[in-house]
Amino acid sequence: MLHNLGSINLDHVYRVPHLVRPGETLASHDYRVGLGGKGANQSLAMARAGGRVCHWGRLGRQDAWARDSLARAGVDVTHVSLVDAPSGHAIIQVDDAGENAIILFRGANHGFRRADLEALVAATRPGDWLLLQNECNGLEQLLPLAAGHGLRIAFNPAPMSEAVSELPLPACQLLFLNRSEAAGITGLALEAGAEALLDALAERLPGCEVVLTLGGEGAWYQRGDQRHHQPALAVTAVDTTGAGDTFIGYYLAALQRGAVVADCLAQASAAAALAVQRPGAAESIPVAAEVARLLDDSTPPPAP
Ligand code: ATP
Repeated sequence: MLHNLGSINLDHVYRVPHLVRPGETLASHDYRVGLGGKGANQSLAMARAGGRVCHWGRLGRQDAWARDSLARAGVDVTHVSLVDAPSGHAIIQVDDAGENAIILFRGANHGFRRADLEALVAATRPGDWLLLQNECNGLEQLLPLAAGHGLRIAFNPAPMSEAVSELPLPACQLLFLNRSEAAGITGLALEAGAEALLDALAERLPGCEVVLTLGGEGAWYQRGDQRHHQPALAVTAVDTTGAGDTFIGYYLAALQRGAVVADCLAQASAAAALAVQRPGAAESIPVAAEVARLLDDSTPPPAP
């Protein structure tokens, strides 16, 4: 079982003719509310991939539906607490040109107390995997606690913030980084190439395995001087939101089944290629059968 201590957000999406101007009251012509948050998306992706994942999260009491929808997808929600605080949520305006403006409220995602973190660690066994992102509080306490207990930590420091550099990153076994996270950790410019980023990461975090995702340029795995590149599938992307979360969930589910790195990358990349061809985040994450079909279709037939 992998334990994921992660955010659960409610995305309130309003379609508007233009983004609201200062002082203006504007009627929205469509409204949807959906499940979001990097933590929830990664748990969902792992469950859809057939992985076993237990989510540790906090939601406002009135939003139990979000917990139920994770449970229906196969996520173990025993440790998703309903609390007397507003849920983390995003108010998203999307205008007719596709431009958006977002207000994010961290809410219950930032209410973890030390006792909650200790309870998580006490419920795990040395060698278990713990997955973390950067949308919940308490990471500076949890990383040393978890490492001290012998947990294997997979960390996706998204969204990147200055506080990430202060964390004891060498405690992590596996880091999932996109371009801006890799640039933030190494101090390199966003324009830096894959090789420069990987070299700098190897120098900064020599003991960590790194999976670096670079959108349409594909993904790299690095451990010591071992490197593996997985090209992205050639598809027409309509919405890349959630591509990274899909990639991470599928990678970890494959790892949990004992797959070798090349297979983990291939599964993750196929799942993410499906996700980018669909709008939305959580709703764009494919199920395992779709990924298997895509991989079968893209495997050349054996030579006669
Ligand atoms: P996001 O924050 O949008 O969820 P991210 O920035 O964390 O994503 P990316 O590096 O953009 O992550 O993408 C993750 C993976 O998704 C890539 O390594 C690749 O496998 C796949 N992917 C992303 N964009 C494309 C694309 N245009 N075509 C095919 N695959 C893509």
